[in-house]
Amino acid sequence: MAGKVKINDLAKKHRMSPKEVVGLLRELGVECGSSKSSISEDAVPQLEERITAMKDDTRKRQVQAKEARKARSAPMEEVHVKSPIVVKALAEALGKKPNEIVSALMSMNVLANINQTLDSDTAIKACSKFNVKLVVDKRGKAERKSDSDDAEGASGSGDNPADLVSRPPIVTFMGHVDHGKTSIQDKIRESNVVDKEAGGITQHIGASVVERKGRRITFIDTPGHAAFTSMRARGANVTDMVVLVVAADDGFMPQTIEAVSHAKAAEVPIIVAINKMDLPGANPDRILTQMQQHGLMSEDWGGDVGVVKVSAATGEGLDELLERILLESEMLELKANPKRSAEGIVLESQLERGFGPTANVIVMNGTLRKGDPALCGEYYGKVRTMVDAAGATVSEAGPAMPVKVVGLSGTPEAGTRLVVLANEKEAKVIAAERAAEAKTAELTKPAMSLDELLSSFGKESKKTLPVVLKADVQGSLEAISDALAKFPSDKITVDIVHSAVGAITDNDVLLAVASGAVIVGFHVKVNPGVNKLAEEKQAEIRLYSVIYELLEDIEEALTGRLAPEEREREVGVARILQIFDVSKGPKVIGCMVEKGAVRVGAKARVRRGGELLYNGMVKSLRRFQDDVKEVKTGLECGIRLDNFADFQEGDEVQIYEVEFKKATL
Ligand code: GDP
Repeated sequence: MAGKVKINDLAKKHRMSPKEVVGLLRELGVECGSSKSSISEDAVPQLEERITAMKDDTRKRQVQAKEARKARSAPMEEVHVKSPIVVKALAEALGKKPNEIVSALMSMNVLANINQTLDSDTAIKACSKFNVKLVVDKRGKAERKSDSDDAEGASGSGDNPADLVSRPPIVTFMGHVDHGKTSIQDKIRESNVVDKEAGGITQHIGASVVERKGRRITFIDTPGHAAFTSMRARGANVTDMVVLVVAADDGFMPQTIEAVSHAKAAEVPIIVAINKMDLPGANPDRILTQMQQHGLMSEDWGGDVGVVKVSAATGEGLDELLERILLESEMLELKANPKRSAEGIVLESQLERGFGPTANVIVMNGTLRKGDPALCGEYYGKVRTMVDAAGATVSEAGPAMPVKVVGLSGTPEAGTRLVVLANEKEAKVIAAERAAEAKTAELTKPAMSLDELLSSFGKESKKTLPVVLKADVQGSLEAISDALAKFPSDKITVDIVHSAVGAITDNDVLLAVASGAVIVGFHVKVNPGVNKLAEEKQAEIRLYSVIYELLEDIEEALTGRLAPEEREREVGVARILQIFDVSKGPKVIGCMVEKGAVRVGAKARVRRGGELLYNGMVKSLRRFQDDVKEVKTGLECGIRLDNFADFQEGDEVQIYEVEFKKATL
């Protein structure tokens, strides 16, 4: 006679909930009562086989996901360009279409046309989107090395594989307010702090480190989703994974949904922690359903999102959550090279009495040491002191370690990269150059309207209009989403990055900026201060109270994003008589206007025989010593194009303008 086995024991053995075991038994057609009852021993092998198959399945999916992620982080191709970097020339160097570069820049909230010059940081960041490591050759040999060091991503590119070791995962907790993000982290820290004997006063350094069975995990403090996305908008993807905290008694709330959008946009794995399981009103099953409604399929339902039930009050499930984080981290194969010079990202910075500027930095690769000469955005300095999260002074910090750094010359913005260079002098030179570049970029920032931007897109390839959609009620949200999905999709698609009920918030703006999206509001108001932020970040908010107007407008925008019909109009022709080498900026070409006129701001093409040497823009125009707007036939003038390309006397300069006519869907 076969014995009986308790469902509870089986659940414990396989680290599942009794309810899940009952679910499986029912699927297998095994008689069982509630989760508190027992089943016949005979049914156990069948059950265990099913559990193994299920886990194998999950494992397979995880491996697939890992491979997909790996493919995304394939080794970077290296491309060298010379400064100044013009969008169009950059596209050529990368073998891309100019509009692809413009789109990449747009996703970074940089509005540029194809003739615009980019600063090297922006260009490097844009190229990383094509998995290209851009090296800007602009200085002498000695300094060039540091610039390419500087351009290296935190991915460990350029490292000898033998030097790569696993690094701790960097985790961000997200979710609705009061669902327990802080409580969970506090409870975990209570029993898992790395070094209780440090003796210092716990420091607020923007992140903390916990340890589970000798393996470390770094938690980033979560001041809000806005900070998460604003860092991302600046190209600093610090987080390896997001723990989405959902209170079991409350379920998905607006900020939960928002968090899902932010995490998805960052393309990082999500682990769902269903918190407050100790409360009588806890209803985890409802959360699984809500997850599915928001595109998060739990592993138990055949998806790839890990779900852990926890209680910050009792500590239940927290070990399991840490295990899950470590498992996910294994799948991600997070590696770094502690032997190389350090690279980090600033989480926060501040001016502190007695210390001067301090920056909370998380080391992404390499080891940061006391005395290292560092470059951080427009600031530089020697690392004078480092303090860890436990308040202890440390002399070095390895990968994924957060430390407060004392010694920089100023307070860099969150998301700024810190790199260690050969010496402080070099760091100082580059910092000064960057400060100057930033100043010029600020002064020459183009005031470009959405229409102009849309017109600068090329003809080929399918276009996407990313949209952040907010509406007053769920019904309108659905109606609008459905209608948007019905636009002809062969040439263009509307990608709803985030949709939610409620007013337009700072977070919406930041998400829109990070995803290059337009914010569309239907019957909603804009929260105080949000318009100002949108203006600053150049995000566009469009508000509507009539659905068809909204749809018409989006159609209009889509039409703009379709390749506009271009018509070229000749303005004039000039011949190069002489090249003038002037101390600052590109060389000036002395010309005779043979036909029509030369005009500032018009486009210019330079040809030698039939060969096209250059296509760009007339940046400035001089007649004798005076800056002029236009020079007509028969007169000589000095033209400065926005780039110089080895022109010679006798080359022909064609001046033209392009008119755009919008295409229709
Ligand atoms: P946050 O805003 O997401 O960081 O949430 P907090 O961690 O500040 O928690 C909000 C409230 O929920 C506090 O009053 C906590 O004591 C309470 N809370 C958090 N976790 C739990 C839990 O697991 N069980 C219960 N009963 N209360 C919790």
